Amino acid sequence: MRRIAVAGGGGGLAAAWLLPRRYDVALFEANKRVGGHAHTVHVPWRGGSVPVDVGFIVYNEPTYPNLVALFAALGSRPDSATNARYGEHYARTLAEWRTRYRTALPLVEAQGLNGRFRRLWEFYLAYCEGGFRAGCIDLRQVALAVNP
Ligand SMILES: Cc1cc2nc3c(=O)[nH]c(=O)nc-3n(C[C@H](O)[C@H](O)[C@H](O)COP(=O)(O)OP(=O)(O)OC[C@H]3O[C@@H](n4cnc5c(N)ncnc54)[C@H](O)[C@@H]3O)c2cc1C
Repeated sequence: MRRIAVAGGGGGLAAAWLLPRRYDVALFEANKRVGGHAHTVHVPWRGGSVPVDVGFIVYNEPTYPNLVALFAALGSRPDSATNARYGEHYARTLAEWRTRYRTALPLVEAQGLNGRFRRLWEFYLAYCEGGFRAGCIDLRQVALAVNP
């Protein structure tokens, strides 16, 4: 049997899981936990706890077809009861970030970053704010439940 090493237990988890059974797969993870940037912590809340993802936040079905397919293959489904939309809130966050970015421009320029860099971030922050406000892009919180 051929042996394959997968380095990193972020997206590498999916790669290791998807590789055909005919391979002997070893997953190497430098950290003490797997998941990579996707990191769920349990926060105490009203006598219990709620799972909060501190890394990977944005998930939407149109632009994540492979992730959606992976969830389906794993028998998980979005729990519509907790499928909350935060796009409008995030538009305000983006507006705030752009204000702070403009305030900090002298520091940016002092580091020798040119006009192209400034315009790129100005465009990115403005585009995201407009997109979230118009609903073209969205920020959602969904709970995934494994089917019994
Ligand atoms: C601030 C921020 C916010 C983001 N928000 C989102 C979001 O909301 N939605 C979204 O879809 N994407 C988001 N992303 C992008 C997303 O996190 C990355 O695209 C995704 O995590 C990349 O997966 P990866 O497996 O390449 O890397 P990672 O998820 O970082 O995993 C890499 C893994 O490899 C391990 N590793 C590293 N070196 C070694 C080694 N030598 N040996 C063994 N293991 C090693 C690490 O410990 C880690 O576990 C965000 C990124 C950032 C930085």
